[in-house]
Amino acid sequence: MNPFTVRLHLHGDLDFFLRSEAPGPSIERKLGEKTSVKDVIESCGVPHPEVDLILVNGRPVDFDYAIKSAADIELYPVRTGTPQFKEQRLQTTIASRFIADGHLGTLARNLRLLGFDVAYDSQAEDRLLLTVMERENRALLTRDRRLLMHTVVRTGYCPRSQNADEQTVEVIRRFDLLLCLAPFTRCLRCNAPLQKVSKAEVIERLEPLTKLYYEQFRRCTGCGQIYWAGSHFSKLQKRLEKIRADCA
Ligand SMILES: [Zn+2]
Repeated sequence: MNPFTVRLHLHGDLDFFLRSEAPGPSIERKLGEKTSVKDVIESCGVPHPEVDLILVNGRPVDFDYAIKSAADIELYPVRTGTPQFKEQRLQTTIASRFIADGHLGTLARNLRLLGFDVAYDSQAEDRLLLTVMERENRALLTRDRRLLMHTVVRTGYCPRSQNADEQTVEVIRRFDLLLCLAPFTRCLRCNAPLQKVSKAEVIERLEPLTKLYYEQFRRCTGCGQIYWAGSHFSKLQKRLEKIRADCA
């Protein structure tokens, strides 16, 4: 087979993944043999869970499509591109259960604060992350492109920002979560749901001042941690309001 050239055009913010090697929305690749479009895309640095629509010479294809000759390849991220080809979109836009890699602790905490189910273990190795992701059908959040490129990853997202609040806004947008926010319903420590409890049920475990000033309590159904609207609460609420405003 004679070598041939494919030209990739990256739409939306997918050129984020090219930054290091070739700035700009287009890139060329020389191929010497039949190659799946997924392998072509990932060889340019773009993880497959970030690509929602692939057009090869104007026709929608899936990741297994084999490229055998010179072609123009258009790549669109989620929520951009033509309104056509609804049936050929490759990603689910909605997810409500996540797993975050060990570097995204603050993002995980933010998402839990907003009520989302986020598995997180700062010590977990990649293999364990992927196992839990598959077993519990979670969307993978990671800035490690190699990890996101793993074959078993079906749904995932690479936060563009390094700032946890901005990452939170990105994830809410990517997975269409704005209407699903349920702040202060999940344990920040262990991810289990919180349950309202009466003061009498927890009074033995409260500090004297907390006993005096607070009437409403929630208890984690997992680890038993008790939550109340203490001094840090208004700070958290302000942060939440800002995240909510930035998402809208
Ligand atoms: Zn807990």
